[in-house]
Order: sequence, then structure tokens, then C-alpha cells
Amino acid sequence: MAGEPQDDCLFCKIVAGSIPATIVRETETTVAFRDINPQAPTHILVIPKAHYKNAAVLGAEAPQLAADVLAETQAVADEEKLESYRIVFNTGSGAGQTVWHAHAHVLGGRGMEWPPG
Ligand code: 5GP
Ligand code: ZN
Repeated sequence: MAGEPQDDCLFCKIVAGSIPATIVRETETTVAFRDINPQAPTHILVIPKAHYKNAAVLGAEAPQLAADVLAETQAVADEEKLESYRIVFNTGSGAGQTVWHAHAHVLGGRGMEWPPG
């Protein structure tokens, strides 16, 4: 069923606490934790606790939860005192998605080019 935890999902395991992560914020519906392979001085992932395979499915099937994730990216940026930052939802393998549980990357603390590679 939509949103149900998946046994083979790394981020569902982080939500369940069975895989450790450096959690920086948690709400009733979301978790934010530091990326294990940071691409910027601040690199935090914000995820819904419920499992949706990517941002497209999350936005279509659970728009309030998508809004919760977006609001948390702002809260993370505030806590990290980021004036400028980038929010990325890699959606599909061609865009670099490797974990199939929707997540927003919050990247900041360095200058960034546009467009990205
Ligand atoms: P994607 O490539 O799917 O957009 O992003 C997945 C992100 O998850 C990558 O930036 C990767 O470094 C991060 N990641 C993968 N495995 C782990 C893990 O076990 N713990 C944490 N904290 N991050 C992870
Ligand atoms: Zn999951």
C-alpha cells in the first residue's frame, strides 16, 4: 500500500532506527539527517517517514506530506544558518537517484554553479 515501509529500503531502515544516521531534525511526518557522503559543507537529506519512491510519486499521492518535506528543508536551512542553499530532488536514475525513497537534498555552505552537471 502507498506509504508503507519497505523491508529493502535503506531510508525506511533509518526511519525505523535499525540503521544509524546523524539525525538533525525530526517531526511527526519527516526526518532530516546528514548525508553520509557530503557534497557541500552542509548536506542534509529530508525525507518523509512514509515510503514513496521519489518526489513525483510523493507529490502526486501525498501532497500534504510533500509540503511537510519542503517546509522542513527551510527549517534545516535556518538551523544551519544558510543564506543561500540548493534543494535537489533527484527523480529517476538518469537524474542520479540511487535511493528509492523520496528525499530532498539540502546543500549549502559553499558557492554553487548553475546549471549543475
Ligand atoms: P540520490 O542519489 O538518490 O539522490 O541520493 C541518495 C543519497 O543518500 C546520496 O547522497 C548518498 O550519499 C546518501 N546515502 C546513501 N546511503 C546512505 C546512508 O546509509 N546514510 C546516509 N546518511 N546517507 C546515505
Ligand atoms: Zn523507504
